[in-house]
Amino acid sequence: MDGWRTGQPWQGLRLNISYTFPVTTTARPTDLRINGARLMDRLMSLAEIGAIDGGGCARLALTDADRDGRDLVVSWMRDLGLEVTVDTVGNVVGTWSVGGGGAVMTGSHIDTVRTGGKYDGNLGVLAGLEIIQTVQESGWMPPRPLAVTFFTNEEGARYAPDMMGSLAYVGGIGVEEVLGTIGIDGSRVGDELLRIGYAGTTPCPAPAPHAFVELHIEQGPVLEKEGATIGAVTGVQGISWREVTIEGQSNHAGTTPMSMRHDPAYAASLIAVFLRDLARRYGGNQVCTVGKIDLHPNLVNVVPARAVLTLDVRNTDEGLLRRAESEITERLDALAAEEGVTITSRQLARFEPVEFGESMVTLVEATASDHGLSSMRLPSGAGHDAQMLARICPSGMVFVPSHNGISHNPAEHTDTADIVAGCDVLLQMMITLTTQETP
Ligand SMILES: [Zn+2]
Repeated sequence: MDGWRTGQPWQGLRLNISYTFPVTTTARPTDLRINGARLMDRLMSLAEIGAIDGGGCARLALTDADRDGRDLVVSWMRDLGLEVTVDTVGNVVGTWSVGGGGAVMTGSHIDTVRTGGKYDGNLGVLAGLEIIQTVQESGWMPPRPLAVTFFTNEEGARYAPDMMGSLAYVGGIGVEEVLGTIGIDGSRVGDELLRIGYAGTTPCPAPAPHAFVELHIEQGPVLEKEGATIGAVTGVQGISWREVTIEGQSNHAGTTPMSMRHDPAYAASLIAVFLRDLARRYGGNQVCTVGKIDLHPNLVNVVPARAVLTLDVRNTDEGLLRRAESEITERLDALAAEEGVTITSRQLARFEPVEFGESMVTLVEATASDHGLSSMRLPSGAGHDAQMLARICPSGMVFVPSHNGISHNPAEHTDTADIVAGCDVLLQMMITLTTQETP
């Protein structure tokens, strides 16, 4: 009940006082299944808040729409008799306080980008509610608490960095820094939390849960292409973003001999080719992208004076990512000498890759197999809250297919059968995790 203060918008929402669930002590159930219709009902109800054309959602973090979404999910948590806490950065945890020790936790986020879909994040949160309700109704008492959470500002669309709430939850960023963050619209996180009634009092960072598992749509095309229903996520790629500036000699395109040019556009092109070649040489999970090139003065008959380009380099292996970074640095130095241009660069972002523990990845695969579902291992190309929780407890992720690999788009879609299958796998994993001393 910590963080539950009078005068908050969510205060007084359907309080559940008389809810009881049957109590029996039996062996760990292996044949429980969630109620798919109930899960889809909740997904569609949440999607009505901040609904946009094309079937998507716009609930930027800490806006009125985010508040309304939060209020609805909190009311559902309370319907299930969960103890609801709101921490100092607005992360909300609903705990079914049975058994003893640390909770087996699941969850995700309910904030969206401005052109978000129905499933990104929301699925992971509402699956957690559905799982707790399913276990409550079964009569089986887990030996540990079960908890479902939604973290503040996962998307980072209004405030940077993304995954802000989960990063604070594990102590990776200070509360004061979070509260003082200014958004794209000039608003301040701390003020907005107060305004929407989610400036809670539960301390952050929080104690580590027993384990954390997140169900999420893949947001990429791999599962669908491979015909697999369940993704056993091995980890999250490390990301290195760099902005490169090349200064050369601007001159007439007709009169300057080719041998006398110091051409930033040519150098930028060579860098793009080098990155493509590097990704091909490394193979595996190495990806490289030049996503943006600006030329100055950007005219048809002028050798440019300057090129500014961005490099997005990702790998699941930190050693390989570092090797790629240093190869790129060496190539930039050599290129500057070869072409007679000046090349400078600055780091825009850097996140180390996260590897989920082998036992958690195996548990996803084994559970999928128990359910007669096809599965495959894959890394996540996008960032997720689970990668932050991996800093403090055994963590893992379950992916379900995204139709055509589309996400952050109203057209985002996952088949109901896949959603239900993913939630059933998560249910069984959480039951198993409650019975394991060391996940
Ligand atoms: Zn997400």
